[in-house]
Amino acid sequence: MITEQEVLQMLTESGAISKGHFILSSGRHAEMYVQCARVLEDPRRAEILGKALAICVKEKVDRVISPILGGILIGHEVARALDRPFLFPERGSNGEFCLRRGFTLNPQERVLIVEDVVTTGQTTEEILALLADNETQPVGLVAIVDRSSSHVVEGMSVQSLIQLDFSNYSPEECPLCAKGISAHRPGSRAKEVQAQLS
Ligand code: ZN
Repeated sequence: MITEQEVLQMLTESGAISKGHFILSSGRHAEMYVQCARVLEDPRRAEILGKALAICVKEKVDRVISPILGGILIGHEVARALDRPFLFPERGSNGEFCLRRGFTLNPQERVLIVEDVVTTGQTTEEILALLADNETQPVGLVAIVDRSSSHVVEGMSVQSLIQLDFSNYSPEECPLCAKGISAHRPGSRAKEVQAQLS
C-alpha cells in the first residue's frame, strides 16, 4: 500500500502541487494549488495511483464512472485495476451530465465514482443525480486528493490517497495580497494579473 508521504512526494515531484499566489475558480486566493493532470502525465504514476485507489474499494463494483475531464485518466486506471468497464458522462445542452457515445448504465448496477480531486463535492452530487436517474447504486467515492473539509459528500465518505487542507482566503483578507504579491489564475492563459486590493 502506498503511503500518504509517497503520494505527496509524487504530487510534488510531478509539479501537481505548486506554491505561489493563486486565484481559484471560486475567486478565493490560496498559497497552494493542485493540478492532478501533472501527476497523471506519467502513465506509470497513473497506474500506481489507480491500483492504490482500487485497493481502497471493498465493495463489489460493476462499473466505474468519472466526471470529465480531470477524472477520466485516473478513473480508467482504477477500472483497469478492478477489471471493470469505465464510462464518463458529459454535459448536455442544459449543462447537466448525460451519457453519450453509446455509454449506458443498467438499473441496479453497482457503480464506483472516481475523481482526481474532491473539493466542494458539487461534481459528485451531479454524478449521483445521473446515477439516480438511471436507477443504479453508487457504492463508493474514491479520489487521489481529498480537499473537502468534511470528507463526506452526500452521505458518502471520500476515500482518498491524501487529504490536503489548504488555507484559502477572500481577496480582502488574503495575506499575500496584503504583501503586494501578484496573483495568477492557474491553468489560465492570462498573464499574471495583479491581485485586487480592496
Ligand atoms: Zn491574494
